[in-house]
Parts: sequence; structure tokens; C-alpha cells
Amino acid sequence: MPIGRDARIFVAGHRGMVGSALVRRLEAGGYANVLTAARNELDLLDQRAVHDWVQQKKPDYLFIAAAKVGGIQANNVYRAEFLYQNLMIEANLIHGAHLAGVQRLMFLGSSCIYPKLAPQPLREDSLLTGPLEPTNEPYAIAKIAGIKLCESYNRQYGRQYVSAMPTNLYGPNDNYDLNNSHVLPALIRKAHEAKQRGDKELVVWGTGTPLREFLYVDDLADACVHLMENAASDVLVNVGVGSDVTIRELAEQVKQVVGFEGELVFDTSKPDGTPRKLMDVSLLASRGWVAKTSLRDGIAKAYADFAARYSATP
Ligand code: GDP
Repeated sequence: MPIGRDARIFVAGHRGMVGSALVRRLEAGGYANVLTAARNELDLLDQRAVHDWVQQKKPDYLFIAAAKVGGIQANNVYRAEFLYQNLMIEANLIHGAHLAGVQRLMFLGSSCIYPKLAPQPLREDSLLTGPLEPTNEPYAIAKIAGIKLCESYNRQYGRQYVSAMPTNLYGPNDNYDLNNSHVLPALIRKAHEAKQRGDKELVVWGTGTPLREFLYVDDLADACVHLMENAASDVLVNVGVGSDVTIRELAEQVKQVVGFEGELVFDTSKPDGTPRKLMDVSLLASRGWVAKTSLRDGIAKAYADFAARYSATP
């Protein structure tokens, strides 16, 4: 069933990388009633406030892009906040949506919900088949609870609450902090600064051999809207590109896009992390969606966004 262009669509977490991409995609698609709530207007940790807001605004659809997120370090240090805040945000929004009669919503998480040693590429049915990666277990447990909350409202009340799990994302509004960011934004920033300083070398952490999959965030937004528009009734859907690159290949591409001409140097005192993290995207493909942005084009777009914001910062 197509979504009317005047439908009321609430994007929770619209300031983040994923939420802002969803708002861009919905507005570009002609949706005229995209609802957002500023942080000072609505505290997503406050159950009463969230339930009241949803009752009052009466959205027809809800995308849950709000979450406490961060890199390996933040996940590992702020374990209590990652578990507590993510549980509260999703419980308040999902139960609040149900009370307000919202029939369709999409809940977003990440690939770290899958067991550490699950077979690759990661399939949806690997969920809860083994122990999680310890560093981000609190975040993963909260996200798994969110998936099960959605699934339970579907089974008990006939709702259509779908959980979408994206692979590593990048794009506009990414986090470029060198300590806490993920590899792609870190390399964009390092290459840019190395070029500006006229350095001869660009330091890449680890051996350069690990494999990672990267999805441009506007593609994720497009996939989410596609699943919502086509009323997917899946419990859990992976969203990725279905192929990966080595960190060395990634660094080469970033070098070319940024125009840094020095050498790559590998700092093997830094950890490689897991050797491979690739999503199985056959379920998503069977629902009629495949990623469109090539890694090269995506890096170029992300770099343009970074350069614009970087030069604006004093
Ligand atoms: P992961 O996918 O959870 O392992 O997280 P990251 O995106 O932080 O790291 C992915 C891979 O990129 C790891 O093998 C890192 O060692 C490697 N890497 C290379 N250079 C960097 C860098 O400057 N920052 C980060 N975060 N990772 C880097």
C-alpha cells in the first residue's frame, strides 16, 4: 500500500546522520508532513513526554533513528548509558506508537546485534545464536530488545513494526572526531589534513587487511523508505551493499578522492578488530532494493560535506 504524500511521518532522531538522511529522502520524495522534535522540545528518555507527544501529533508512520551511538571506545566506557538510554528511547517510542495506534514503524540498529562468531555474510537468522562482541554488548542487548519489542507487537497486536539493521554507514553529518569515529570519516579527515600540511605520509591503523562493508547513508534512507512504502512485514532486514573492501583499498580510494599524493603507512600497534564484517543482503534484494551509490561516489559526496563543514569551523 503506497503512503499518501500528506501522511504524517515522524522521524525520531532527525539531527543525527541517519535521521537527517531520512528527512532529506522523505522531503525529496514529496512527503509534505515530516514531523520532527527538537531535543529541548521532547526528551526521548521521558516516557510521559514521549507518549503525550505521539498522542498529540498522531503520526501515521514512525522511523526510530534516535539512539545513543558511538565507536568502540564510547561503547565500552559508557556501558550503563548505552544500555539504559537505548532501552528507554525505543521502549518509549515503540510502546507510545502502539498506544497512539501507529500501525507501521521502522526501528534502526546496527550489525553488532549479531553474535561475534556468526557465519559471514551475516544473515538475519543468526540473531541470538551465540555470544556478542563484549565491547558493545550493552548497545547490542538494547537493540535486540527493541527488535523483540517490535516483533512482539506484531505477533500480539498485528502491528507492522520492522527492524532494519544497517552495515557501517558514512555520509553527511558523520562524526569526524579522530579518537571516536569509524574508519572512513577518520581517513577522510586524516587525508585532508595531511594534504593541507603537505605531509609525505598518511597513517592508517592496523595492517590494512581487514575487510569492511560501507553504505552511504542516503542509500540507507532510500532502503528504509522503500521498505516502509512497500509495507514489508519482515521482522528484521539487513541493509548493506553486499560487498566489502580491505582497509588498504579504502585508504587508496580516500587518497584519490581527497587528492593526497603521499604514501600510506600502516601502524600495526593499533588493533585490526574483527577480520571481516559483511552483511547478507539477499532478503533486502528479494524485497526489490539494492544499493545505488558506489563507494567512490559516496566518498566524494562525504568529502564534499566534510570539507564544507571543516572550513566553516574556526
Ligand atoms: P570496526 O568496523 O568496528 O572494527 O570499527 P572501525 O571503523 O573503527 O575500524 C575498522 C578498521 O579500520 C579497523 O581494522 C581499524 O584498525 C582500521 N582503521 C584504519 N585507520 C583507522 C582510523 O584512523 N580510525 C579508525 N577508527 N579505524 C581505522
